[in-house]
Amino acid sequence: MKNNRRKILKGIAAAASLPLLSFLQPNQVFSANKLRRIAVEETFSIPEIIDAIEKLLAIHPEKDLGTAKALKFVPGINTIKERLIDLDDHRIKEMDKAGVDVALLSLWSPGVQLFDKQQAIELAELANDRLTEAIKRHPNRYGGLITIAPQDPQKAAQEIERGITRLHLNGVLINSHTNGEFLDNKKFWPVFEAAVAHKVPIYLHPRTPPESMYKAFADYTMDGAMWGFALESSTHVLRMILGGVFDEFPELKIVLGHMGEGIPYWLSRIDTISSRDRKTKRAPSEYFLDNFSITTSGMSWDPVLEFNLKVLGPERIMFAVDYPYVSYDASVRWMDKAPISQVHREMIYHKNAERIFNL
Ligand code: MN
Repeated sequence: MKNNRRKILKGIAAAASLPLLSFLQPNQVFSANKLRRIAVEETFSIPEIIDAIEKLLAIHPEKDLGTAKALKFVPGINTIKERLIDLDDHRIKEMDKAGVDVALLSLWSPGVQLFDKQQAIELAELANDRLTEAIKRHPNRYGGLITIAPQDPQKAAQEIERGITRLHLNGVLINSHTNGEFLDNKKFWPVFEAAVAHKVPIYLHPRTPPESMYKAFADYTMDGAMWGFALESSTHVLRMILGGVFDEFPELKIVLGHMGEGIPYWLSRIDTISSRDRKTKRAPSEYFLDNFSITTSGMSWDPVLEFNLKVLGPERIMFAVDYPYVSYDASVRWMDKAPISQVHREMIYHKNAERIFNL
């Protein structure tokens, strides 16, 4: 069926003497004829940042104990580093092979959030410039999220403005906590002001739990993607909700990977227990259902997709892969066959991402 559609499209494109890619420009009415696939949590880095992270963690592993460990012990880490840096070759081939049309790129966690202020600001700008160049080289294939240095919230707000108005990026990336501090702390709120002013979402991506939480996750490789990431980022989200971020910024949009980092599963109990001593105007689930969207990154599993369709609805779930940690091919094969309606599949594969990230 899919091949037939491609053949028909190729035929039409040839007949019109147009190259196929220009025929399939984003947001054209023809997109309904082809299942456009957009993946929204796709990781990249630049050599300068990988290098700076390695140098810093060699002396100060406590700045990110999980990443320090991963850089030493994760099998194939050198291949992962090569794939993070590559934006022209293997990555595009993998997307082509799987039939992924567009990848929304974001900087490898922990990004710049473990550096001191000045280094973080400079490397964030460099990452955003390189990302913009890659998008210019592959305008039909990539979108990108703005890296910021929350260490300096005012500068971070300015970088959001530059990223949207000058670089034309699609949203903001925050790799969760910054030096063990969370975004419910009002000193970070200029970042939210900027995101709301420019009407762009913030993708809150996990990172290793901070030193204050780390001990419980230190064994059995629990500190990373198996468990520590989700516990850290879900704790962060709850702090934002209960700390009144969404009373102050009702228009703020947050995107969470990994099917919502476990929060959807807990909403009922969070509402019940928090009602005993709640300072916010509304129940936590109301903010979650109004202000949050989730993605399928690294969680290609039918039951949790079906559950989230019931809890959040089809308009708040987006397809994501988590390349280069997860394969495009396997993720697409899963989503193509997931037991959901074709209408919902199209929303999850591209329509929601087009709306939320302006892709
Ligand atoms: Mn990721």
